[in-house]
Amino acid sequence: MSRFDRFIIVDWSGGNDRGPRPCRDAIWTATAEGGDVAVPIYHRNRAVAEAWLAAQCDAAQDAGERLLLGFDFPFGYPAGFAERLTGKPEALAVWEYLAAQIEDAPKSNNRFDLAARINRQFDGPGPFWGNALGRDIAGLARGKPSERMAQAGLREWRAVEEITPGAFSCWQLAGAGAVGSQCLMGLPVLARLRAQFGAAAWPFEPWDGAGIVLTEVFPSLLAAEVKAAQAQEPQAIRDALQVRLLAGALQEAQSQGRLTEMLDGVPLGAARREEGWILGVGQEAALRAAARPDLRPPQLKNDCFALPPGVDWTPVDQALAHLRAALHPVTGIETCPTAQAAGRVLAKDAIALRANPPGANSAVDGYGFAASAIGQSGPQVLPLVDGRAAAGAPLGDVVPHGQAVRILTGALLPEGVDTVVLEEDCALSADAVGFEAPVKPGANARKAGEDVAAGALALKAGRRLQPQDLALASALGLGELATHAPLRVGVISTGDELAAPGSTLDPARTYDANRPMLLALAAAWGHQPVDLGHVPDDRDALRAAFDHAATETDVILSSGGASAGDEDHVSALLQSEGAMQSWRIAIKPGRPLALALWQGVPVFGLPGNPVAAFVCALIFAHPAMARLAGADWPEPQAYGLPAAFEKRKKPGRREYLRARVNGAGQVEVFASEGSGRISGLVWADGLVELPDEAMHIRPGDMVRYLPNSSFGF
Ligand code: AMP
Ligand code: MG
Repeated sequence: MSRFDRFIIVDWSGGNDRGPRPCRDAIWTATAEGGDVAVPIYHRNRAVAEAWLAAQCDAAQDAGERLLLGFDFPFGYPAGFAERLTGKPEALAVWEYLAAQIEDAPKSNNRFDLAARINRQFDGPGPFWGNALGRDIAGLARGKPSERMAQAGLREWRAVEEITPGAFSCWQLAGAGAVGSQCLMGLPVLARLRAQFGAAAWPFEPWDGAGIVLTEVFPSLLAAEVKAAQAQEPQAIRDALQVRLLAGALQEAQSQGRLTEMLDGVPLGAARREEGWILGVGQEAALRAAARPDLRPPQLKNDCFALPPGVDWTPVDQALAHLRAALHPVTGIETCPTAQAAGRVLAKDAIALRANPPGANSAVDGYGFAASAIGQSGPQVLPLVDGRAAAGAPLGDVVPHGQAVRILTGALLPEGVDTVVLEEDCALSADAVGFEAPVKPGANARKAGEDVAAGALALKAGRRLQPQDLALASALGLGELATHAPLRVGVISTGDELAAPGSTLDPARTYDANRPMLLALAAAWGHQPVDLGHVPDDRDALRAAFDHAATETDVILSSGGASAGDEDHVSALLQSEGAMQSWRIAIKPGRPLALALWQGVPVFGLPGNPVAAFVCALIFAHPAMARLAGADWPEPQAYGLPAAFEKRKKPGRREYLRARVNGAGQVEVFASEGSGRISGLVWADGLVELPDEAMHIRPGDMVRYLPNSSFGF
């Protein structure tokens, strides 16, 4: 999708003319373009605002620029209404209807009378309510009539509002924050912008190619950011702050490559036909991150992949050390509900909000008392106090010295209790409990904070969150975690000879094996794979593919064309236009690995050969992408195991052999080292890593074995 040149956010109003002085609850607009947001503009009434909006659309069309307009009122009504009103189940039919019916003048309009007229078409009081006029209107109640929606056969909320806290109902025409009037008075304006300028109504019409796109927005998605801005600028009018922040956030979301998923993230069905959707719902974290560009990490340096001059074949260890030093996280930081944070990388240390356990409690079902009140040995009998202590239902009272209390697992120890005896070890009468001493003081009692103290470091930044981490964070009171946005990994296959698997019988064509493999590796490593397709060996097509990739992804994995030959178009292109460093790495299989920054986005140009692409992805892309995603640099977990093979190796290159462990605990290697043998990758469970020096390995010699699990899949 091509980019928008300008974003205009409109805080609409359903009311009458607000006078010449800027004030709240009026119409406000803010324009973001070229990386900046202009000072918000006040519009005293809808006629003024509509003329201004038309002028903006006109100017955008003249200049051939793309414009995204955002309005803060629903573009549709709950499913079913459109058809009842117009005979067509389409929001745009409602727009046309309202455009024909609404009469608007700066100081008066017919919205309440029209709502009453619509209501009268329904059984019962009808869906609209909230007459704010002095006179009564037949068909429009002042308050909210009960049972009205059931009688009308409609729902109160659109699907998007069901999942958006704080939204107002489009049926409510009066009262603070009510949006119903804005809708009635705004949709006719949108209908005219559509008719006059061919503006596309998102999400009802295709928006990809449209020059002007009308979208629904909801400033409350940025409530926390608006609040923070208001604290800094107490004099500012809230409406003005909201439009300014939202316009800036959408512009920034586009430059972070997150706008497309917001526009595309609309469920199929009623939302796309008649209800509409709110831009950013479902991607709230990305929107909020875009509103806080200060949380964005700095870009990689242009020369980050440059090797020291004069180096010919770079040893693997040196290449890895260089990557490790040059790379840093490139994804923004988003607050994520803990329950949804599995697989994400923690961006800030998680500190325990309270201790685990928060209070001393019983580890078993049994009877609790003070250890100092019982004897050293022999039978003990303690009178029981009334009541019991259970998890979530503490006793409340003090247990007197020398008495006992019924206590269940997880219950807070009542005051006067430090020890619990297991119920299986007790004899019970109506009012006393008996057991045998000795009982160790503190037995079966858990101390407050014995697991984690309040304020302790629970999880370290850089950790990829695992299921058990979510348990710990939750237990310590952390309902949200600061996490990195997922790293978007774009995968491109290059080569004229490539074809989709099974698509041709031509033996001159090669089925594209790398793309599914690399996409699956990216997913297994917790990143967001982005399939960028297959590109022929053509300089312009490759350039276009990299340009596109740079706007949609955080890192690019290409395969093929990475050497220095005539048909190696990837390295040639990166060489001529990117900050290319063709790395001649002393590795087998693999050799050339092209590293470059394309418009600030790191590119790993992997070899085309699937075995070499696989090995280079594991050895280089895996740790590098972990780092880019905000995680710690992973070191593969290696095991020293006896070889079940013999091999002579020349000096100069580090070698990786496809390997697996046999029943005797020895490492076998795949029969052929041919780098076209993809079946060997399937046969193997890991790699044997042979050092750079010459070697003669005989059966029984220890070798370094790296299981696939040590590469994170
Ligand atoms: P290249 O690095 O482009 O010279 O390609 C080396 C070898 O790998 C050639 O035989 C290519 O046909 C093959 N190759 C390149 N890309 C792929 C791919 N995506 N899937 C399978 N084989 C490939
Ligand atoms: Mg090729």
